[in-house]
Amino acid sequence: MKTSSEIRNAFLRFFQQKDHIVLPSSSLVPEGDPSLLLTNAGMVQIKPYFLGQATPPGPRLASVQKCFRTVDIETVGNERNLTFFEMLGNFSVGDYFKEGAIAFAWEFLTQQAGFDPKRLWPTIYPDDEEAFVAWQRVTGVPAERIIRLPDNWWEAGPVGPNGPDSEIYYDRGPEFGCGRPTCQPGCDCPRFLEVWNLVFMQYYRDETGALSPLPRKNIDTGMGLERLTMLLQDKRTVYETDLFAPIIQKAADIAGVRYGADESADYSLRVVADHSRAVTFLVADGVLPSNEGRGYILRRVLRRAVRHGRRLGIERTFLGETAGVVIDLMGTTYPELVQRRDFICKVIEMEESRFGQTLAVGLNLLDQFIAEARQAGRTELAGSDVFRLYDTYGFPVELTTELAREAGLRVDLEGFQQAMAEQREKARAASKFGAGARQNAEAYAQLPLEVEFLGYTRLAATSQIVGMIMGGRIVGDMAAGDEGEIVLRETPFYAEAGGQVGDTGRIANERGVAEVLDTQRPVPNLIVHRVRILEGALLAGDIVEATVDAERRASIARHHSATHLLHKALREILGTHVQQAGSLVAPDRLRFDFTHFQAVTPEELAAIEARVNEEIRANLPRGTTITTYQEALAAGAMALFGEKYGERVRMVCFGDYSCELCGGTHVERTGDIGAFVIVSEQSVGAGVRRIEALAGEPAVRFIRERLAAFDRMSSRLGGEPEVRVQALLEELQAERRTVAQLRRQLAASQAERLLNEAVQVDGITVVSARVDAPSTEALREMGDVLRDRVQRGVVVLGSVFNGRPGLVAMVTPGVGINAADLARTVAIRIGGSGGGRPDLAQAGGRHPEKLSEALAEVVPYVRAHLGR
Ligand SMILES: [Zn+2]
Ligand SMILES: [Zn+2]
Repeated sequence: MKTSSEIRNAFLRFFQQKDHIVLPSSSLVPEGDPSLLLTNAGMVQIKPYFLGQATPPGPRLASVQKCFRTVDIETVGNERNLTFFEMLGNFSVGDYFKEGAIAFAWEFLTQQAGFDPKRLWPTIYPDDEEAFVAWQRVTGVPAERIIRLPDNWWEAGPVGPNGPDSEIYYDRGPEFGCGRPTCQPGCDCPRFLEVWNLVFMQYYRDETGALSPLPRKNIDTGMGLERLTMLLQDKRTVYETDLFAPIIQKAADIAGVRYGADESADYSLRVVADHSRAVTFLVADGVLPSNEGRGYILRRVLRRAVRHGRRLGIERTFLGETAGVVIDLMGTTYPELVQRRDFICKVIEMEESRFGQTLAVGLNLLDQFIAEARQAGRTELAGSDVFRLYDTYGFPVELTTELAREAGLRVDLEGFQQAMAEQREKARAASKFGAGARQNAEAYAQLPLEVEFLGYTRLAATSQIVGMIMGGRIVGDMAAGDEGEIVLRETPFYAEAGGQVGDTGRIANERGVAEVLDTQRPVPNLIVHRVRILEGALLAGDIVEATVDAERRASIARHHSATHLLHKALREILGTHVQQAGSLVAPDRLRFDFTHFQAVTPEELAAIEARVNEEIRANLPRGTTITTYQEALAAGAMALFGEKYGERVRMVCFGDYSCELCGGTHVERTGDIGAFVIVSEQSVGAGVRRIEALAGEPAVRFIRERLAAFDRMSSRLGGEPEVRVQALLEELQAERRTVAQLRRQLAASQAERLLNEAVQVDGITVVSARVDAPSTEALREMGDVLRDRVQRGVVVLGSVFNGRPGLVAMVTPGVGINAADLARTVAIRIGGSGGGRPDLAQAGGRHPEKLSEALAEVVPYVRAHLGR
């Protein structure tokens, strides 16, 4: 048991032999747990079993779980902290308890891993006598080697299951120690390392803080694979194990440095190694870079790695290569890495090069901010500066904080948050309903928060008004002209969700009629109708008829179902790297955003459109199933990347063609969609494309209108448009050539006239005339012709275009007149200014009526300045 793969396998095999069912690692994106950003322990997928919300496949379970810890990302690079790691764990759901867990752990560590029992130190919660007795009985460890530590208590939150735990430490030997006589497990020196944590989940803490015993006691254990591997491979740090060394090596090769030669470079190499693993696994599990949530964590980690790459002297993109090493190392254990290799590397490289473009400028600016702060004697970077780095140069605030700290400065985080809030406020002001909804939050809290949605099967229902809100307050009635929100006990109105817009329609009884303008779900399970009272009045408690605009809903359903067919067709024709990245489903159009790295060609678009229409004609029946997330995935359903799903999910299928997890409303059969046409395709961000399309009547109307426009064009062109347009273009080109030729002829004949009117001054030919020219450009062309003809001379031409006078002055070589000075002098007369070179200058002014006077000054000017 030497390599990390052997350790993983040995662990799972050991527990399999002890009647445990091995569960595959769940995604880093937790399913159905909105309280958690990323999976951070093996327990996450076991939690529903512990809480009795789901039935486990057996009472004994084991796993190797991909985990991500987001705390202290900015300290990674020291030898201890990791972001991504793997956790080995065994779990008992109401089966064995303390003694069993201790016996398994002890046997694995001493028999399988081969640790010297004398170097293993159990620790327990100070008053956990049950664990104390179990340790002695099962392992024979003497009482003085069982250490009582008050930190040995586990809880997931202030309310919920909790209990004492027992951590097993390994003694690395006195050479790692601090030498203090009190040195023992719990000491902050690196001698005693925590290897395995056994959690005895035996209590439940309620809202008042009181503990009560759980009816069913559980075991949850966790052991970091990296640390165990380090000890078994006898390495000083995890970075020297086979889990990290090849990644470090790759980064060192790219940078042209050697690991172990310089502490500062080593630090950066460790950052790159850890973060390469992190970004690879995050992207593999569907996280994409963004400014929010998981996407922001990915962005932070990736950008921090780029920065440390620069510190190592790497100027090009390199994370795609280190990610490649991660995939090579881990692909056997985690096949999703191999399946998505291209996608992973592409996403990483694109984000890396995006940040790389602004990094240097941002770093310069930061240096400037730091210098300014120091000069002003401040110990803090201004929040507005930090925000500028964030907003314009893509510096995650945590990165700026880290860089500032290296320079001995703090960061005004409050100021940063304020600048951020101000920008959000501006964005929010644009969405009026959003602002109103926020204001109404307090009112919602006073309403029943469970509204049943009837609209999958019905478009009208008799219901009761259980809440009315106007201006953020609960009201008892609303009268004609009032606008506000109505909550019904149950409703057929679909609230905006999953890209599908909210329903509109009517809520009415014999006393009053309200028009429903929109339906929203501002908090989970609360459906709110935004209404305007058209006539009469409605009272809280009224029984009403709620009627959805059926025609509009049907058109929404056609577009939503078309979206599902489109999603499937995209994956068929472009490849399975296509993932939905967003959608809008409205009665008159649909919009579908998806991951893809180049423009979709017209041929591909045509094929996709044809594929969707083929499935429409196949008239596939819709099937809707409520099932579990796992079963839906097993049935081949497409789940949205990064979307959280609850325990029960709704799966919408069309024949065998498409299955998606979806809460929206759909047509009965694909034939109901009628027709499908793609209107446009474009880029909406790095690696994300957008297709806009129409279904049903809007699709037919679109085609009809395009054909009508084409027909109108044909009749105006008087023939087949493609042929006629080609002929017209050729004709136009010929005409342009003729016009240019005529212009030249005209200029030549004008030049001839002007030459005849030229004045001779001491052997110099002076032309000063007003001509018809549409632009300065034309004046110059004409001037060129004249200059060539006069040989020794001065040419000044003036014209009025767009109501303003303009002049061009030219002087042949050796005449001794400066064209720029001449232009400037003459321009004064037309109320303007001029300038240029000694041989060519121009001028403009504001008084067109003075142009002739100005031109009349040329001859006297030449006479006065000649020979000076
Ligand atoms: Zn110590
Ligand atoms: Zn859907």
